[in-house]
Amino acid sequence: MSEIKIVRNTAPKQKPDENNLVFGKYFTDHMFEMDWNQQQGWHDARIVPYGPLELSPACTCLHYGQETFEGMKAYRNPHGEIYLFRPMENFKRLNRSNERLCIPQIDEEFALKALLELIKMDKDWVPHTEGTSLYIRPFVIGTEPSLGAHSSSEYKFLIIMCPVGAYYATGLNPVSIFVENEYVRAVRGGMGFAKTGGNYAASLKAQDVAAEEGFSQVLWLDGVERKYIEEVGAMNVFFVLGDEVVTPALQGSILPGITRKSVIELLSSWGYKVSERRLSVDELLEAYKKGNFTEMFGSGTAAVISPVGLLRYKDIDMKLSDGKIGELSQRLYDELTGIQWGKCPDPFGWTM
Ligand code: PMP
Repeated sequence: MSEIKIVRNTAPKQKPDENNLVFGKYFTDHMFEMDWNQQQGWHDARIVPYGPLELSPACTCLHYGQETFEGMKAYRNPHGEIYLFRPMENFKRLNRSNERLCIPQIDEEFALKALLELIKMDKDWVPHTEGTSLYIRPFVIGTEPSLGAHSSSEYKFLIIMCPVGAYYATGLNPVSIFVENEYVRAVRGGMGFAKTGGNYAASLKAQDVAAEEGFSQVLWLDGVERKYIEEVGAMNVFFVLGDEVVTPALQGSILPGITRKSVIELLSSWGYKVSERRLSVDELLEAYKKGNFTEMFGSGTAAVISPVGLLRYKDIDMKLSDGKIGELSQRLYDELTGIQWGKCPDPFGWTM
């Protein structure tokens, strides 16, 4: 499939105020869409005006959660040019999620081509203000109009986009995190490594409880022993323990973040000892008591790097980096955002 049909939006919208962008509320003028069925495979690729979909109320994704998605951003550099950060990593991850949810594979190169075409059409929607970007949401849904509980025989792949504001309007800010003891997000053998709505639905309850107690996110423990650290709401996590930087190993229950991968590559290139391994809360508490656990941060597309100032486990509060921004968090944030917004060299060739 090589052709992408284009239907231009003849009634473009007024763009929102760049200084007041709320995440995920304002969508650009166009979206990409294509369909899949058994006879034709993926077909009918098109860029059309952004708007509602017509779906059967019986369709698979609505009842059995057969859907996958991605989250990535386009950034405008100081010369006004538009950049993507490791976009193929997102399409590869989408296909790994698709495989887990019995959704047909997409052609990753073609998906990137479609995305570039869509961004070109809506390029004026990529905001210019410092720290802003264009959030990109590719997703696939099962659309067979049937209540049969089996994988769908029809799918749609779509890409929608929205301008988003700076995550930290006033610079990096340490967050407070709560170790979740009652609920679990995913188990090995489940869907934790896939980016699918069900994982997020499973996490809403704990998130609500944590928010009521003044915490911004929860830190998930493994679903079997409730002992080993996994990840937080929409971020992977890193811990500075003496001269070792530890992040939980990918064993099927956590999302393999693209920021995580970039942080590991950056830290290794700077000469840090980075370990991807199992890390228990007990080990963390022990290290804290000995003064050996000094810094923690999250990594993800939304905030890039999120320093953690306070980690609560049961009734124990671990205060980190004096509640300030840790040294490593700041260095990683500056380097990654520098590369993403084209303000510093890109030695790894991550941007395009
Ligand atoms: N874990 C979860 C559960 C997430 O939703 C995200 C955000 N995609 C991440 C980790 C971080 O992944 P990435 O660095 O690719 O944004």
